[in-house]
Amino acid sequence: MELLTRAIKGTQDLLPSQSHENQYIESSLLEIAGNFGFREIRTPVFEHTELFTRCVGDTTDVVQKEMYTFEDKGGRSITLRPEGTAGAVRAFLEHGLFNEPLPQKLCYLTSCYRYEKPQAGRLREFHQFGVECLGTASPAADAEIISLGDHIFDFLGVENLSLEINSIGCLDCRKDYHRALKEYFKAKKGELCPTCIERLERNPMRILDCKSPVCSKIAADAPVVLDYICEPCKEHFEQVEGYLDAMNITYKVNPRIVRGLDYYTRTVFEFVSNEIGAQGTVLGGGRYDGLVAELGGQSTTSLGFAMGLERLLLLMHAQGIPFPSQKGCDVYIIPVGENAYKKAAAMAFELRSSGLSAQLDVAGRSVKAQMKFADKIGAAYTVVLGEDELNGGTLKLKYMKTGEITQTPLESFAEDFMEISIRRSTVELEEMLNGSEIDDKKF
Ligand code: ATP
Ligand code: MG
Repeated sequence: MELLTRAIKGTQDLLPSQSHENQYIESSLLEIAGNFGFREIRTPVFEHTELFTRCVGDTTDVVQKEMYTFEDKGGRSITLRPEGTAGAVRAFLEHGLFNEPLPQKLCYLTSCYRYEKPQAGRLREFHQFGVECLGTASPAADAEIISLGDHIFDFLGVENLSLEINSIGCLDCRKDYHRALKEYFKAKKGELCPTCIERLERNPMRILDCKSPVCSKIAADAPVVLDYICEPCKEHFEQVEGYLDAMNITYKVNPRIVRGLDYYTRTVFEFVSNEIGAQGTVLGGGRYDGLVAELGGQSTTSLGFAMGLERLLLLMHAQGIPFPSQKGCDVYIIPVGENAYKKAAAMAFELRSSGLSAQLDVAGRSVKAQMKFADKIGAAYTVVLGEDELNGGTLKLKYMKTGEITQTPLESFAEDFMEISIRRSTVELEEMLNGSEIDDKKF
């Protein structure tokens, strides 16, 4: 087929045959986060560019290479959000949420945009579930959001993820570390990529997550930040470890994690999989004690995480994790003639009002074609409504799986249908559980 155009590279359509998986994941995430006290916040898909350059950091890959930035018709520089924290923190400040009881626990489901090389687990439009906990310095909060991540994977049945944690210290102790890094990288300056040569003076830590193979190889032997953190940061990290131990959460300390965004301080962590290819970080987060002040607010120690929903789905598929099935059609009503159609529409309305999924032909098809259609969409039951049924007042309800017919009076159809279908699913469930034969008396 020659189409006018196709979807933009690095973007994905979510089709009706897949959307129930996302709906299940999204509603589970909101519910689990809700149980931890996180409430949903929604912020705009675009923001003033300076929000991200300031928050994410102007020496990061995200800002230097990946942002979708454009000038709007009013001449303002606008950027499609590359991540969710900046917008959430901006809204926290703009709406005075700091005046409400702290910590403020926010969560979101958002689309994000980054101009990256599309590959498995890396898209230009992707989706994140994120949480932000604003206004607490306690290591208990670090452990709590890590345990939220752990709880989510556990609930969804995802296994074999490794939780890696690190501390990248505060702005104070980082000065020593920057000095050590500069010294180390200066000796190899000739081999670094042009972006990293620029980073060497301004932000040498960013060289540690450069994706160029040469820079990554050099970075592998660089000094590690854990050797440079100050006493209070060390103590904070030990307390986080203590809480995780108390919660029986398995983790390993990986002193090489620095995260790709500038706002992080102290604790950083990732949940990593080796089952979905090179892009194995499914969830990443940490503390960002300086960010609120950076945006003009009062110093508010805070932390959060974001997980990539496409990577989560890839992993769930790789592990063969089952999803609840899509809501199907409970009953397909097949009217014959205009009078019957009107009655059928009223019946469908009544059934839908009771929470059932009822459909009827809206394409003017013959009875035979309607029956075929009902079969194709997997309708559990069908019922034909012709002149005879309208006059005689008795309907024949057909259970499509076995072809069995149950008769029910026209007037009480909706009520009877509900009872019949519930009874049948209860019996089928029992059968499935104990492999027994159908007991007719139960019908
Ligand atoms: P990566 O190391 O994979 O580039 P990152 O450090 O840039 O990740 P964050 O900015 O912390 O990632 O985003 C949090 C999560 O969002 C990641 O752990 C990942 O699951 C997801 N994510 C980030 N970038 C992409 C992308 N381009 N496509 C799909 N998911 C992504
Ligand atoms: Mg990245």
